[in-house]
Order: sequence, then structure tokens, then C-alpha cells
Amino acid sequence: MPDLYIDGEWRGALDGRTREIRCPADGSLVGVVDEAGGKDTVEAIAAARRAFDSGPWPRTPPAERGDLLLRVAGLLARDKAALARAESLDTGKRLVESAYDIDDIVNCFRYFGRLVGDEAGRVVDTGRADVDSRVVHEPVGVCALITPWNYPLLQTAWKVAPALAAGNTFVLKPSELTPHTAIHLTRLLAEAGLPPGVGNLVLGAGPEAGAPLGDHPDVDLVSFTGGLRTGRGLMAAAAGTVKKVALELGGKNPNIVFADADFDTAVDMALTAVFLHSGQVCSAGARLLVQDALHDRLVDEIVRRAAEIRLGGPFDERAQTGPLISAAHRSKVEAYVARGLAEGAVLRCGGERPSGPGLDEGFYYPPTVLDECAAGMSVVQEESFGPVLTVERFTDEAEAVRLANGTVYGLAGAVFTADEAKAARVAARLRLGTVWINDYHPYVPQAEWGGFKQSGFGRELGPSGLAEYQEVKHIWRNTDPSPQGWFAQDRSPSPS
Ligand code: NAD
Repeated sequence: MPDLYIDGEWRGALDGRTREIRCPADGSLVGVVDEAGGKDTVEAIAAARRAFDSGPWPRTPPAERGDLLLRVAGLLARDKAALARAESLDTGKRLVESAYDIDDIVNCFRYFGRLVGDEAGRVVDTGRADVDSRVVHEPVGVCALITPWNYPLLQTAWKVAPALAAGNTFVLKPSELTPHTAIHLTRLLAEAGLPPGVGNLVLGAGPEAGAPLGDHPDVDLVSFTGGLRTGRGLMAAAAGTVKKVALELGGKNPNIVFADADFDTAVDMALTAVFLHSGQVCSAGARLLVQDALHDRLVDEIVRRAAEIRLGGPFDERAQTGPLISAAHRSKVEAYVARGLAEGAVLRCGGERPSGPGLDEGFYYPPTVLDECAAGMSVVQEESFGPVLTVERFTDEAEAVRLANGTVYGLAGAVFTADEAKAARVAARLRLGTVWINDYHPYVPQAEWGGFKQSGFGRELGPSGLAEYQEVKHIWRNTDPSPQGWFAQDRSPSPS
């Protein structure tokens, strides 16, 4: 069966191209999918435009749209095992992690299905008895949804669910490396009764299949999750037609540990913060900021535990984390570590490709700790998106905040301390979209997610995640129309 979904039909690419998808854990062939080029994407945009301008979806009552999302949630739950397996094969992540992701995806569809409801509009008091004035929400139009490979279906759900809830039509372009769960979701949308042309799927490389989504005049909104450089390019491309843009970019997230923190919790969470999914998490706590007095004890224990983390493929039940997504990505992580060492960081563990049965065919890289890092180093400033922890020391609260805020990013981070007042002061001063106190990584669909600074703008999840996909319209109705006479004709006799 072909893999592109345009105007309610499954079809191949116009030029017949395909792409092999291989599992990063062992290089095995997962599948061969159709590979769209720019012309396929332009056709998908045209279908989404027609469905928006003359199809039923944008005019479907919001509560009915919500019902469809709840049906999709049910179908996702029904297919959880198949979806989790497909996600693990594409990404190499452990099956148990993919299964958690599918639960979160179901919850995301449920959340937006329930959030959207019929609205009469906000009545505005104009001070005039002869005016009925209301502010209403409407869909934005054709949305381009572009997603990355690290949490393929989760990042997609965060966009598809609110875009549909708000009544938009869309063209989805998932990462070319991890397309299978997007194909599955598209089938479920059709099964749930989404009208043709409302949800379109193109698969393919960013510069080809993705590029028209940034500059095509029929696209009204671009919602992008991915790297900083790609985001900058898309924002520039979208400027030509003044599209709405939402960017969820990278992070270089600080994990601040004060000397009074609960030690075992701080160690445990520091490991999860940075080594979960081998660091391929936008909110990874990749920068450990530790108070001087605790440095040696904390870092020794983190190093001891990191060196014991077991690597393995998605179905290896003993594995604690998996491979990197590709050979190219692993090379980038290796170059990043080499730069750090050249700049004076001290390698405490990891730093070398592992080998052994089950590891040689995959793109594995071990948990790595770079100690004695300084604020100016490239490893402190740049995202590695791999299992690499940099360690910096601080003496007091002010220095912790200064270091934490000292990169171009502002996505997420944490503070560990037993002192509630100190935690609240630090949280208030961190320029981050999410701050965890004595915790790391949890999120819920009810709360907004997004970045400060160059981690992007716009929010996903929460009420703002729906608002991102809505236009706001003010309708003013004069209930007792009569001439105002502003330009009343002067009837006085003209001088003769
Ligand atoms: P990427 O920027 O390489 O690609 C992301 C998507 O953009 C892919 O679908 C890709 O095909 C597409 N793309 C690339 N060039 C394009 C172009 N010219 N036009 C249109 N589309 C184009 O990112 P990636 O490597 O897939 O993902 C990793 C990055 O994503 C990391 O930087 C990570 O921090 C970030 N990320 C951020 C969040 C968040 O919530 N802020 C979540 C997950 C990942």
C-alpha cells in the first residue's frame, strides 16, 4: 500500500521515489516507504486548501470535532502494541519507552478532544445598548506540521490534535527517518471519519518534501519542532507570506543541584535527565550545575552509575537505553566530545564507541560525563542531542542562575534543593519555558510546553496549545442601524 496520503487517497510519489527505513539498533530493514518531492507536497497543500475553503471540517461544530479526537484516542489505545513496536523499530528506543509514549499520545488526543467545545463567543461590553459585540475563535487555515525523529508520534500528536480541534486542515511532514507511526496515525484519522483533504501526509527529506511548507502562499501556519538551524530557515521562508509560525527548537537545559538537595534523588534524576533515550530529548538535562561543596561526591556517584548503564536494542529486556538515531548523528556527538576535550573538559566516563555482541551493528554511544567545564566552552553552549553530560561548578544562588541562563536556549531545566524559598526564587529567575523543582522530565498535556529565547516561541499543549491554531475575530453587530451623519451633506445655501 502506498504511503503518501493526499486528498483522502493513498498514493506513491509523483516521481516514484522510495526510501529504506532501517532500525538504528542493528541496521535491519524496517520498511520501504514512498518519498515525496516538492510537487507531491504542493498537491497536498492544494488538497488542504480546498478542504479548508469549501469542505465541512472548519464549519463542523467544535464539540463534534472533539468527538472525533476522542474516537482517535480510542483507536490509538486499541493499536498501542503495534504503534509502540513501530516506533521502537524506527527510532531504536526501548519498547517500554515507546509504550509510555503511546499512553501520552492517547492522553494528548483525549485532552484536546475534551478541551474544545461549542463557544458563543466572549461578549464585549461596548457601553452601547444598540450593539452586540463578541470575540470568537476560528481556525487559522492550512497548517504545515513538521516534526522530528526523537519522539516521532508524540511530537506529531502535540500538533495534529490541537490543529484538528480548532478546525484547521493540515499537511503533516514527519521526519524522513521515522515515518511509520505517522502513517499509522493517518489511517486511524481516516477510520475515525476525518473528511478527505483535512489531514494530508507527505514523507520525505526536509529540503525537498518539506521546503514548500515554509514558503507556499496557501499555507497559513507553520508549526515546527526540530533543530535551531532548520527553524531559523523556516522562519525566514515563512516571512515572505507572513505566515503564523510556532517553533519548538532545541535546548541546553541546566540541571542545578544545591548542596542541601536530597543526594539520592539528585543522583537518580541527574542520570534520567541526561541519559533517557540516550540524550535525544529536547529537554535533556545535559548541563549539570553543582554547588562546589557537593561537586566531588555527586559527580563521583553519577560517573559510577553512568558507567553501569546497559545499552541495547528495543527488545532487549536488560537494556536501559538504546542507540543514537543514525551514523551521522553519532559522528556529530563524537566530534562534540572531541571539541570539549580539546577545550579542557575532563572525561570521567564514556567517550568511546562500545563494542560487543548486539552493539556493533547499531549506532551506540555510551553515557559520557565531561567534568570541569566552563561557561564559554562549546560543549556547554551547544546542544549535543546525545548522552553527554557537562559539569560546571557554582558557589552561590546568583552564580547558579547566571550560569543556567548563560546560553542562547531557554527550553527547560530543574533545581534540586531542600530549601523551598530558594527553589522558588531560582525558578522565578530562570529564563526557561519549564522549570522542575526536585524532579526532572515530567509533563502533562494540561500544561503548556515551549521555549524562551532561541528555544523557540509559541506553545504546545495546554489551552495555549489550542490557541496557537486559532485566529481571534471580533464581530460587532449594530442592532438598531441608522445613519450616523458623519459626512452629512451640507444643505445650507451656497453663497452667490
Ligand atoms: P531537524 O531540524 O533536522 O528536522 C526536523 C524536521 O524538519 C524533519 O521533519 C526534517 O525533515 C524537517 N526539515 C529539515 N529541513 C527542512 C526544510 N528546509 N524545510 C522544511 N522542513 C525541513 O531536527 P531533527 O534532527 O529531526 O530533530 C532534532 C532537533 O529537534 C533537536 O535540536 C531537538 O532539540 C529538537 N526538538 C525540540 C523539541 C521541543 O519540544 N522543543 C522536541 C523534540 C526535538
